[in-house]
Amino acid sequence: MLQKKYFTVGPSELYPTVYKHILKALKRDIPSISHRGSEFKKLYQEVSENLKKLLKIPAKHQIFFTSSALEAFERIIQGCVQSSSLHIITGSFGSSWFKTAQDLAKSPLKEEASAGEGIDLTNLKVPKEAELICITQNDTSTGVWLPPEGIHALKLHYPKKLIAVDVVSSIPYVDLDYSKIDITLFSVQKGFGLPAGLGVMIVSPQALEKAGELLRTGISIGSYHSLINFSKKYSEFLTPETPNVLNIYLMSSVIGDMLKLGIDKIRRQTDQKANLIYKFFERHSDFKPFVKDPKYRSKTSLVVDVLGRAKELKEKLAKKGIIISAGYGDYKENHIRLANFPSQTLSDVRKLLSFI
Ligand SMILES: *Cc1c(COP(=O)(O)O)cnc(C)c1O
Repeated sequence: MLQKKYFTVGPSELYPTVYKHILKALKRDIPSISHRGSEFKKLYQEVSENLKKLLKIPAKHQIFFTSSALEAFERIIQGCVQSSSLHIITGSFGSSWFKTAQDLAKSPLKEEASAGEGIDLTNLKVPKEAELICITQNDTSTGVWLPPEGIHALKLHYPKKLIAVDVVSSIPYVDLDYSKIDITLFSVQKGFGLPAGLGVMIVSPQALEKAGELLRTGISIGSYHSLINFSKKYSEFLTPETPNVLNIYLMSSVIGDMLKLGIDKIRRQTDQKANLIYKFFERHSDFKPFVKDPKYRSKTSLVVDVLGRAKELKEKLAKKGIIISAGYGDYKENHIRLANFPSQTLSDVRKLLSFI
């Protein structure tokens, strides 16, 4: 049988070492160990330290596990907002975070770009009432990328405001200064090439202070997965509930592999593959990158306008064992979306382009 290659934007191709790590996890009885025992605590501490090492995250930030990125949307609004958050929206995931704030009976504000366009964060005016700024750094629905410099500038201009960033489809490629971000969130089935069912939040002391203040004011910040409850448990490398221990183990193993390879090399390879794909479509007679301004083009989740031929292309590639994503929502027929995570190899990218 033909081995399939997944260029889908999530879930996606597994990181090449995952198969081996799953077998090892089973041999080591990882799914049966107690989540209150010393082996788990060691695992949590190790994954936390290695993630910090891989991405240069300040030591004081804390790492929490949720079930997904969408859960993190909710926990962040609950823990950091009394009345109002500002949402930077460049696609459906940004809209979905805004809606979460509405569902939680807050009064969110938004700054929204037209489809396929970016927002210049370096000159953004943030309304006084916004306590938290929510940024979808790489919106997987449109392939719009917001340059990290803009996010860092926001913290410089508004040091008192909290900043939360969704990097689900750009981590570990995106190079952020985590000292300027209060909460970063992601799930593991995209850039890390792991099975779905695990989300991660990287949380600053400033965000935890805010959650504490809200709690003292008598505002609900959630229950077992509130930021404060997470933080209490984190001090002992424990989790409030029985977590996805197998996936935490796999994440730890894959981060170990990425540390050996080096983040610089991962980033260079990502750039190389992205340049190849964008050049191909810039020269293509019919198809074109959806995001016109190269500054706002994602290197990790690329969206191409294929003039209503998405279904045909998907089927043609599937016959060659290559699985791609259609457009998101209303763009189902007009766009294709291609993942360029560490799991997609240069030779598979070449194959994909040759079949198109
Ligand atoms: C996929 C995705 C999410 C949602 O992730 P889940 O793990 O399904 O909760 C959120 N934001 C972005 C940018 C995504 O690509």
